[in-house]
Amino acid sequence: MDPYTVGGVTALPGSTASGTLAVGATAGGESTTIPFTIVHGTRPGPVLALVAGTHGSEYVPIIALQRLRASIDPAMISGTILMVHVANMPSFLRRTVYYSPGDGQNLNRVFPGKPDGTLSERIADVITREFIARATHVADLHGGDGNESLRPYSYWITTGPEDVAEQSRAMALAFGLEYIVVDRSRPTDPAKSSFLSNTAITRGKPAITTETGDRSRVDEDMVALVERGVAGLLKHLGMRAEGPAPVAAAHWIDREQVLRADVTGLFYPSVVKGQTVEAGDLIGRITDFHGHTLESISAPFAGEILYVVETPPITKGEPIGMVGTIAPPLPYPGTIP
Ligand SMILES: [Zn+2]
Repeated sequence: MDPYTVGGVTALPGSTASGTLAVGATAGGESTTIPFTIVHGTRPGPVLALVAGTHGSEYVPIIALQRLRASIDPAMISGTILMVHVANMPSFLRRTVYYSPGDGQNLNRVFPGKPDGTLSERIADVITREFIARATHVADLHGGDGNESLRPYSYWITTGPEDVAEQSRAMALAFGLEYIVVDRSRPTDPAKSSFLSNTAITRGKPAITTETGDRSRVDEDMVALVERGVAGLLKHLGMRAEGPAPVAAAHWIDREQVLRADVTGLFYPSVVKGQTVEAGDLIGRITDFHGHTLESISAPFAGEILYVVETPPITKGEPIGMVGTIAPPLPYPGTIP
């Protein structure tokens, strides 16, 4: 086993080392930093990249990685774990939802990024080159942003080569969240991958996106889900001998829709996370700034509320929630739809 080096920081076999990558300023632009950790095992194996804080106010995975850095014993690991502790530092420090305070962009829509682009594009470029390019497997760890009341679930991206989709499916089961959204809608062009996990998939690397945590709260049971999820991935990938078993009977969300606002104003939800709805049930309404209702948004089909916005500000085009339908028993696992 050779030492492992990222950004000038070297971890010897059987050791953990941390450092900070610089995201340089362009002319007249801001710079920022990306704190990371290398957990380098004692035997060869996969390189698993765990990314927290792509959205800077989704704190549960950020706190989980703080704990996992301390709790994972590198002597017990085969392969290497790369942790990105806070991917979107400008959003984290300025406490913004969705958008970077620097450029107004959503980091998880600008991948694979550009070395000479906006601050968000430059962050994406560094993550693509320094972490996704090195990794054999990627998990992008999200949660309910400051406005999102969310029940835990994972995304299984089915686009890309069949063997990559199959390995991604197995990762989603290994992470342990029982609700798994079957996502067939991600771009397939590696130059326009848009999302972090899809940047891995379009480069032939299995990846998942996970969602744990509700409205930026650091709930212990949600942090525990991430710790358990990472332990499941380590076991599944053969990186650690001990670990929890994969989900035995997942709830596959085979039909889902993000519901979006057609107008700008104040949003009033009529449902809560996890609630079952019928087609046509009111999800919420949007008023103007004087209280007159402008839009009522209904469920397009029967399903369950995976997340719903629970704070008033809403801008035309933004999500107000997501409804998903649990598939009847289907060919998966075992078949790529
Ligand atoms: Zn997110």
